[in-house]
Amino acid sequence: MDFRFGERFDEWKKIQSKNCRIVIGARSAVFAPLSNIGIIIIDEEHDDSYKSETVPKYDAKEVADYLAFQNDIPFVLGSATPDIKTYYEALNGKIQLLTLKERVSKSGLPNIEIVDMREELATGNKTVFSRKLYYAMKEAIKNKEQIMLFLNRRGYSTFVMCRDCGYVVKCEDCDVSMTYHMDENRLICHYCGRAKNVMTVCPACGKKNIRYFGSGTQKIEMEIKKYFPEASVVRMDVDTTRVKNGHEKILSKFRDEKIDILLGTQMISKGHDFSNVTLVGILAADSSINIGDYRANEKTYELLTQMSGRAGRGDKKGTAIIQTYMPDEFSIEAAKEQNYTKFYNTEINLREKLNYPPFCDIIISVISGKKEEIVKSEANRLYELLHTSFHAYMPVPAPISKINGEYRWRILIKEIANEEILSEFYEKISSFRKDQNSEIKVSVDVNPNNML
Ligand SMILES: [Zn+2]
Ligand SMILES: [Zn+2]
Repeated sequence: MDFRFGERFDEWKKIQSKNCRIVIGARSAVFAPLSNIGIIIIDEEHDDSYKSETVPKYDAKEVADYLAFQNDIPFVLGSATPDIKTYYEALNGKIQLLTLKERVSKSGLPNIEIVDMREELATGNKTVFSRKLYYAMKEAIKNKEQIMLFLNRRGYSTFVMCRDCGYVVKCEDCDVSMTYHMDENRLICHYCGRAKNVMTVCPACGKKNIRYFGSGTQKIEMEIKKYFPEASVVRMDVDTTRVKNGHEKILSKFRDEKIDILLGTQMISKGHDFSNVTLVGILAADSSINIGDYRANEKTYELLTQMSGRAGRGDKKGTAIIQTYMPDEFSIEAAKEQNYTKFYNTEINLREKLNYPPFCDIIISVISGKKEEIVKSEANRLYELLHTSFHAYMPVPAPISKINGEYRWRILIKEIANEEILSEFYEKISSFRKDQNSEIKVSVDVNPNNML
């Protein structure tokens, strides 16, 4: 039974009337009204989407764990790149570790190569394709094999800046730089959707030296058409999949081998099995390293491994080429060697040293509102209530300090979020809310996916 799409209510009824034995679904399937559960399996357990980031904020893994405990049944978590926390618990005996030692595909692990893009630049190659990737693509196209290219930035140029004074075009409502979209010929804010017309004169200094920097998927698509005119390409990102069944249409065309190159964002990294893909290109492996999140290394390792694993699923040997400006990063090195244990050992030491999960939990409270003075003073008032009982950090503007016209201040707490701590925490929050200024909002998240 699959209730990922449509007709959720009917499926729900069917489950309730005991007409199905197996329920398959996304995270909300964990609430399916089964009366006599025998086992719960969560595959690709490292995936962030098991955690709901909107109210109600829940983690399907935690709910499943509780259900399994309550029903006294097995609970299985599966992954080739386990969540650091899950693996830590497995090594410490809280979870039983079962290791699959053989790969399903006959062709074995893909061959992974790292290209240092600084060297490419030094030899005068200013294109987005390293020489290694360029020739590998030419070869694959000639052999009628398919290619997947990954870049986690949509749009055409990722930021727009004045060469004279350094002014960067930012959204007026959000503290983020705007992205140039070629399709609409406008600058778009990826947080609130506000659009601006393209400018030729700098609003700060009045000179005409506005330039476009950073490559997004739209730009790469054009570059592919320029350098590989003999191949067909399709782009898969938020902008091309808005139409109904957009995802499925693109993927089935690619599966039927009607397209040579599939270019996309995170969307193409997940579990797709295309047997004719022999080459995977990761255009900017560093894009997830500098995201200001303690899980940046983990996300990088996971993405590179998952994405590389798309190559060579069939009988033919696969190759993954990873382009980076930071080839010495341990997450990139470990991904090249496909060595999870090596990655884990370095990462867990860092986490312990800096006191990050799994050695504690992260509780983040964001105070937001239209008037920054009120936001700030309310954040300070909340901090006064919290810091006497918890290991709380002084309130500071969130890394993205404004979204949709609302200023955001953040309080970060590091604690082991057990029942006792959480109930005390929520008591403090509700006492804060009694006198809360009506012009602000307070949100709380435990171990958020996104620290921004
Ligand atoms: Zn905005
Ligand atoms: Zn300027």
